[in-house]
Amino acid sequence: MIILGRQGSGKGTQATRIAEQYGVVHISTGDMLRAAVAEGTELGQKAKVLMDAGDLVPDDIMIGIVDDRLSKDDVVQGGFLLDGFPRTPGQADALVGFVGDRLKLAINLDVAVEVVTDRMMARGREDDTPESIARRLELYEAETAPLLSWAEDRGILHVVDGLGSEDEVFARLQKVIETV
Ligand code: ADP
Repeated sequence: MIILGRQGSGKGTQATRIAEQYGVVHISTGDMLRAAVAEGTELGQKAKVLMDAGDLVPDDIMIGIVDDRLSKDDVVQGGFLLDGFPRTPGQADALVGFVGDRLKLAINLDVAVEVVTDRMMARGREDDTPESIARRLELYEAETAPLLSWAEDRGILHVVDGLGSEDEVFARLQKVIETV
């Protein structure tokens, strides 16, 4: 499955819980990039500049990283929950090429722009500056929001209200996952 939703919608928190509950492998491209930054790898050095500005890391790089991760044994056996990927139509096409009909579910964790902006300002991650937040949300609307109709056309989209306590949102997610 994949989890879509604006920055600050709670995708990371909920994806961790889903992975624990159902035994799927949580693949967060943001976490993978932050690890590369912390390690100071070539990828990390390149990604840091883009991440700090709220820009996207180029598709070819992201697609390569995800392709590698999806081919590991744990994912092949346990299934995957992608968080932060796909984020562009090109990434979505690549994902279908990799997994085809093994992609069963796309959840849109729905939270309004005003709410996610406040949440990100409060969370204060290194790239949560007002400029970077605005840029990421702008790119979300331009590049990622079109994936909602892509997922709908594939018949796999479910919208879950992301407002409420962590437990409330998780209960809504469980309902959808168990139905599918
Ligand atoms: P957020 O959802 O708040 O942007 P993430 O942890 O998902 O947080 O991503 C942090 C940054 O990592 C993004 O702003 C972007 O620069 C980069 N990034 C993560 N995933 C992708 C992706 N699939 N494609 C391009 N860039 C990505």
